[in-house]
Amino acid sequence: MTELIDKNNLRVDGRKLDELRPIKMQVGILKNADGSAYIEWGKNKIIAGVYGPKECHPKHMALPDRALLKCRYHMAPFSVDERKSPQPSRREIELSKIIREALSPAILLEEFPRTAIEIYIEVLQSDGGSRVASITAASAALADAGIPMKDLVVGCAVGKIDGKIVADLSDIEDKEGEVDLPVACMPNLNSVTLLQSDGPLSKEEFKKAFKLALDKCRYVYDIQRKALLEGYLAKTKEA
Ligand code: ADP
Repeated sequence: MTELIDKNNLRVDGRKLDELRPIKMQVGILKNADGSAYIEWGKNKIIAGVYGPKECHPKHMALPDRALLKCRYHMAPFSVDERKSPQPSRREIELSKIIREALSPAILLEEFPRTAIEIYIEVLQSDGGSRVASITAASAALADAGIPMKDLVVGCAVGKIDGKIVADLSDIEDKEGEVDLPVACMPNLNSVTLLQSDGPLSKEEFKKAFKLALDKCRYVYDIQRKALLEGYLAKTKEA
């Protein structure tokens, strides 16, 4: 078994137990989408593009009382070490659904009945935690598109490796560790929109992990807000 935490409590990439990988975010990076965002989270590189609210196709899917939210999470064939088929896998179909469900409570969908809002997420490079990075980028892309929202949605995974609770698992920590616990929330509304777990935690471990996730979400939220502000200032300068 790989040793994931050394005797100095440092992880394989040298991080402390509660330390996140470096995060960079930029919004408004695509000229042709209504809203867009790019995130680098450690070695993850992810683009989110948003269209809408727009006419709903096929028309029979339109909802009379709110907008239809569509979401596609897709990994590029070169995003992982062995070429991935470009066809959507079961995992990508599931992630598209859970990302849509994590974002939907934040959007004022009822203001746009009979329309569609489409979110496209392309994972260019993946290294663990891509769903929370995707949620964070997609939420910023929705805001960049000017879609009214109750709050931004921001995500961060925590977990358990070598018996210890840690923040932001990398690919190897996700694969070799005991538990991965991705969380997404709307920080200002104090509301959790995604909570998953792929292994057991005691009640005390869960409490510690969940608190750590919410603290780290706040930290990521500041980066997300800063990126939106910078994007807005860049747009006003262009105008
Ligand atoms: P998340 O990316 O949200 O942590 P998972 O826990 O399902 O989602 O995946 C963990 C990591 O496993 C991904 O970030 C990616 O680096 C890797 N991975 C996912 N699918 C594949 C694949 N088909 N081939 C190789 N690695 C993959």
